[in-house]
Amino acid sequence: MKSVKAAAAIYWNPLVETLPLERLRELQVKKFRRIVKWAYERSRFHRKLYQEAGFKPGDIKSYQDISKVPKVEKSMMRDIQRKDPFPYGDALCVPLEEVTEFRQTSGTTGLPVYQPDTWQDWEWWAESWAYLLYAQGYRNTDRVFIPFGYNIFVAFWAGHYAAEKIGCEVVPGGVLDTEARVLKIQELQATAMMATPTYVLGMADTARKKLGIDPARDLTIRKITCAGEPGASIPSTKKRMEEAWGAKVFDHVGATEIGAWGFECAAQSGGLHVNEALFLVQLEDPETGEIIEEPGRRGKVVITALDRIAQPCIRFDSKDVVEWARDPCPCGRSFRLLKGGVVGRADDITKIKGVLVAPSAIEEVVRSIRGLSNEFEIVVTKKGDLDDITLKIELLPEAEGSREFILTQVKDQLRLKTNLGYNIEIHPFQSLPRYEVKAKRFKDLRKQG
Ligand SMILES: [Zn+2]
Repeated sequence: MKSVKAAAAIYWNPLVETLPLERLRELQVKKFRRIVKWAYERSRFHRKLYQEAGFKPGDIKSYQDISKVPKVEKSMMRDIQRKDPFPYGDALCVPLEEVTEFRQTSGTTGLPVYQPDTWQDWEWWAESWAYLLYAQGYRNTDRVFIPFGYNIFVAFWAGHYAAEKIGCEVVPGGVLDTEARVLKIQELQATAMMATPTYVLGMADTARKKLGIDPARDLTIRKITCAGEPGASIPSTKKRMEEAWGAKVFDHVGATEIGAWGFECAAQSGGLHVNEALFLVQLEDPETGEIIEEPGRRGKVVITALDRIAQPCIRFDSKDVVEWARDPCPCGRSFRLLKGGVVGRADDITKIKGVLVAPSAIEEVVRSIRGLSNEFEIVVTKKGDLDDITLKIELLPEAEGSREFILTQVKDQLRLKTNLGYNIEIHPFQSLPRYEVKAKRFKDLRKQG
């Protein structure tokens, strides 16, 4: 048993992060029952959903009973919104007067979902991020720079508040452009930052090309927390970011309608811990609905935010595809580990030529090959009855001499990692689209005829 002092140096909440799994389960069941009862009594949406399924909060006696509770999908949330109490609709569990925060989802897959939070919820958001930042080594000696246009989306507001809660000094890099942000980081000797992987790589490029600044050599950022895209859990993308910045790069997973539910710790063991103090995560077989407890089998995340009260997130079908890791993390947390982070989204993982492909597997190949730029695009079309997949990549000017060698490498690696043959197009450097925040690299044109 570690001494209390030693544990406090590693964990944000030394007690709960080292609880034996069965004690964590007891805590989760207790909290789960509480939030279900809360929603049943206050939200017309939840009461109707549960009544139609013949379910009552009192039916939950054990962990096994949790899967009896009907699931909620994003489309259901869209249907109830833009109605009274405006604009949230029937799932709101508190008087409108108690709502203090408005955020919304990005709406990349349809109408955005509005998310109300009370001040208590907002403190909970900061707490969930405090677990993850502390686990990644953020301390009160850090000066944290946030190079992000703060707006109606939740990123990186909660990270900002959590860093303050830990005692870090926070520099909001809101409306500045990329060059101004790099210069501000240099001027203030900031030690940590938070950004999407696309922006982390883009920022390093701008620093080098436009300012002659090599982030790894000339800047003092040593910790980067990523969000919004899976890049920080894709080994080759993580490596590119770490080399560009001379920093440790950490992943985290969260969503507006759920919360920040998983994080990579300083041990970088190749997985994400589920924050089991604040969330209940279950993996479900997408075909049979069976709950997966064993490692090595992929499933969909069904998740409950155990303490969020304004618009509860109970048994939400997140569409994230994950698998449990086989070994515990060397950091000593009892929070379970997801191997390789979120490996895909149930929506993104598509069948191409009869093979299941996650775009993240293609990214892993492209980013692992020297001589290619960070940009790529995948286009799937139909030729007659057959699927056709094209990968567009960019060769760096200095790699022009090894064009054929690189082409063969890409082909072989893709065949090995995804079991598919591709048309590969090499485009001139800097000709593929650049993205500021989140990239859209996967284009499935098959349904457009
Ligand atoms: Zn760990």
